[in-house]
Amino acid sequence: MAAALSVETAARGAKQPAVLEFLKSGPKKLLINGKFVPAKSGKTFESINPANEEVLALVAEGGKADVDEAVKAARKAFEEGKWARVGPHQRAKYLFKIAELIDQHADELAELESLDNGKALTQARAIDIPAAAETFRYYAGWCSKIYGETNPSDPSMFNYTLREPVGVCGQIIPWNFPLLMASWKLAPALACGNTAILKPAEQTSLTALRLGELIVEAGLPDGVVNIITGFGPGAGSAIAEHPDIDKVAFTGSGEVGRLILQASAGNLKKVSLELGGKSPNIIFPDAEMEAAVPNAMMGVFYNSGQVCCAGTRIFVQRDIYDKFVDQLTKYTEGMTMGDPLDPKTKMGPVVSKEQFDRVNGYLDIGKQEGARVTTGGELGNGKGYYVKPTIFVDVNNDMRIAREEIFGPVAAAIPFKDENDAVFQGNNTSYGLAAAVWTRDVSRAHKVARALKAGTVWINCYGMIDPISPFGGYKQSGFGRELGKYAIDLYTQVKTVFMKL
Ligand code: ADP
Repeated sequence: MAAALSVETAARGAKQPAVLEFLKSGPKKLLINGKFVPAKSGKTFESINPANEEVLALVAEGGKADVDEAVKAARKAFEEGKWARVGPHQRAKYLFKIAELIDQHADELAELESLDNGKALTQARAIDIPAAAETFRYYAGWCSKIYGETNPSDPSMFNYTLREPVGVCGQIIPWNFPLLMASWKLAPALACGNTAILKPAEQTSLTALRLGELIVEAGLPDGVVNIITGFGPGAGSAIAEHPDIDKVAFTGSGEVGRLILQASAGNLKKVSLELGGKSPNIIFPDAEMEAAVPNAMMGVFYNSGQVCCAGTRIFVQRDIYDKFVDQLTKYTEGMTMGDPLDPKTKMGPVVSKEQFDRVNGYLDIGKQEGARVTTGGELGNGKGYYVKPTIFVDVNNDMRIAREEIFGPVAAAIPFKDENDAVFQGNNTSYGLAAAVWTRDVSRAHKVARALKAGTVWINCYGMIDPISPFGGYKQSGFGRELGKYAIDLYTQVKTVFMKL
């Protein structure tokens, strides 16, 4: 059990005065209709710093009654409020303003993210926060570029289409990239003229709430963005079930994805799901090893392995298998794990006690299944939810550690014979979020990229994501594509108009 709230202890090492001020300003509230309010139940829950297990903040525990209020506000804003009359240029201005405010507060947001999630501060500052701003900026550009069409129908008709917003969107996000996931959800929804109810993950509510403050500062009309913190069953399920929410966008586990899909059946919400992965990273003998080894390492251990598109199954051609895993092990042993606020840290703790126990369980499972640990395989010492980056070798693609998403710093290195075998084993999974191939043979690279059943394939790199390009899953990794112009499809619906001339 965590100790009583002491911001000084929980946020030890924090340097940003604005972060301490935010944490000390009392229990965090819900954003409903432009105002920060406590949960109707009066309940709060603790947000824990996973690096030291101390309570960073108390956060309002939203429930069904709060979701109802937020939906009322979002509906009103959508149908009759100021937002309904806001033109595309003005919407763009709002989104640009949010991006600018994120940039202005980047140091603060990065530190808050690092404290709340446990990710390395340098990575939050270099990636999460600028990418969140970039996402808003990218979709600001889209506001004025969402076109309908004129259709060559019968000459007696004037026939055209309108692309209209879907309406009130429920957006449920996970804890691995809290601010970035909030921006992937909110930016395209707002660009298309929708209103939103965002539910951050209970482990990491803080940057979404700070973003809520920035959104209010940017001057968005009341009710356009509502933020309901709380648990999955309770706040999340109330969103998924709500009869007056038109669309639900979810990123998280397959298990919860299925619940969301079922709950959405009531009023036939439009649903998009971005679920897990067990992505293959395929290394051919002609790959440039100086790049393949460190990228395979970061491809699986980045963000303590808590990345849905992590390259957790590293397939290495049999002739170079031993040499490759040796090098991978050496590199991994040189990776600094520790205090996320320390600039030298490359890997922090995992996000929560629950995740810590879960990952630890998989370390045992891997050993029981007969895989061999070359490095790691155990937990860190002392306080904080640290798990040492772990490489399992002699892994067979049928083992549980090769089939189930662990969502922690655990790699499975699997040998393959030839190209066909690599593709077969790579595709032999229920997931299909991402994949990578390393080779200098251009033709093979593209052949393998085509053959892999995954929403994203990287060639000679790992983990590139850009708001310009779609992201989403094949198979049980979900459906719908976020980012790029594809998110405009998710957040609009098309109306056909016929007029008799
Ligand atoms: P993870 O396994 O990565 O923690 P989850 O799928 O459990 O991911 O959680 C992702 C998000 O889904 C979180 O915001 C969580 O609160 C929410 N959630 C969990 N259970 C439900 C549910 N039954 N209905 C709606 N949302 C849920």
